[in-house]
Amino acid sequence: MKNNGEIPVTNPRTGKVDFRIIPADGEDIKTACVLLRDNQTSWCEKTLEFRADILLQFAHTISEYRDDLIAALTDDTGRYGLSVMETDGVAASINRWIKTAEMLNTPSEGRSTSLPFITYSVENRPLPLVGVISPWNFPLTLALIDAIPALLAGCAVIIKPSEVTPRFAEPLRRVISEVPELDAVLTIGDGGGETGAALVDNVDAVCFTGSVATGRKVGEQAARNFIPAFLELGGKDPAIVLASADIDRAATAILRGSIINTGQGCQSIERIYVHESLFDAFLALLVVKAKAVQLNTPDIHTGHMGPLIFARQAEIIQSQIDDAVSKGAVVHTGGKILERGGLWCPPTVLSNVTHDMTVMGEETFGPILPVMAFKDVDEAVALANDSVFGLSASVFAADTQEAIATGRRIEAGAISINDAALTSLMYEAEKNSFKLSGLGASRMGPPGLMRFFRKQSFMTNTADVFTIQQFDETNSKPE
Ligand code: NAD
Repeated sequence: MKNNGEIPVTNPRTGKVDFRIIPADGEDIKTACVLLRDNQTSWCEKTLEFRADILLQFAHTISEYRDDLIAALTDDTGRYGLSVMETDGVAASINRWIKTAEMLNTPSEGRSTSLPFITYSVENRPLPLVGVISPWNFPLTLALIDAIPALLAGCAVIIKPSEVTPRFAEPLRRVISEVPELDAVLTIGDGGGETGAALVDNVDAVCFTGSVATGRKVGEQAARNFIPAFLELGGKDPAIVLASADIDRAATAILRGSIINTGQGCQSIERIYVHESLFDAFLALLVVKAKAVQLNTPDIHTGHMGPLIFARQAEIIQSQIDDAVSKGAVVHTGGKILERGGLWCPPTVLSNVTHDMTVMGEETFGPILPVMAFKDVDEAVALANDSVFGLSASVFAADTQEAIATGRRIEAGAISINDAALTSLMYEAEKNSFKLSGLGASRMGPPGLMRFFRKQSFMTNTADVFTIQQFDETNSKPE
């Protein structure tokens, strides 16, 4: 590949540039896509069992390169435990998709209801080439989350990981090259936005995970090319703690759901609404629990939270805290991003917050927990829905049905009941993103696989064909 101007990459633990990538340009992407399309022809002709077997070989090879992948992901993100989980999670994901594909691998047949002598059979034709564009918060998981079902469906795939966390791509390429059948239909192209845009011009569908701003560009470009865009975008997830809730359970789950991966998750809880009767007790508990959280510095193998991965996001987080404080918010823990080489943000519990503050309206993508009281369920629902986002939400109540009834009124695609951010643990439940949080078929459950097929139907007339004379206007002439 040509040198198109290196992109420097910062290590989140040291704050220093210690890695560079050479972005693929439009020509590189085009060439790679032509080759992938050629190779896809035989890949899609193979049986599902064949493709499943190749993906299982891929999973096995990942286990052989496990240490290299974990080391690269750890450098990318500054946290170790979640890098282990990302790496070990690939095999589970492959096994899950194989089971789903086996269930769905049945062509449908039937006959016309009005003209029963015409029969049909419908087959699934995989899209030849799927492009995956992924973000930096879970680099490996989100690079493969759509690639695995697409490959199983019989598509070829080109992935463009985030330029913020690209180190894992090299060991992953080595893994892929050990499985030649997979190597022929799966390519990773390094680069930033321009490389991503080039990809959208060369594929038959694009799976994009990232911000609303970039998602809009990708969606518009895909629409111009008449290709589907599956957009998985940002969120501003609310948690509602109803008057009957167990506050210890709620505070424990909400804290975890807000600050895991340092709050750098689309499904992080970013707004907390608590019934006024529980407010003081809940806040006190949350503050105690938040104060017990430790940063994983200087020793990466201690503590609960890694550094902020992306310095530009750290600026947004600090500016949201400062905006809230300038408008009267009270800081109970944290409040300041710490510079220790890289940037660390302690869990920051805020009260006295209002919806005029950016911390209650814009995506934070950091471990910030703003807590607000509500009087009744109507007010809680109105506050939760006062957002341009509709990714997911949580409701806590003593009675599951009470929580579900409130959840039904929330404009979001996934509602965790008596827990927070369950979408990060649940892959089977279908969900759509509401509002600006995304577009397209569910990534989870059977549609997550079916989006990579186009339907092709074969219609057979088993009787005599109609003649043009049967359509002679004189036959229908009024008396
Ligand atoms: P981003 O939008 O800045 O970048 C995402 C990817 O898009 C990167 O690979 C980037 O290089 C690429 N890109 C940039 N410009 C492009 C263009 N014009 N055309 C094509 N590709 C382009 O997002 P980010 O900062 O990497 O990730 C954080 C965001 O991702 C947050 O908003 C978060 O909520 C969201 N996210 C959503 C989900 C979900 O499932 N809904 C999951 C994880 C993250």
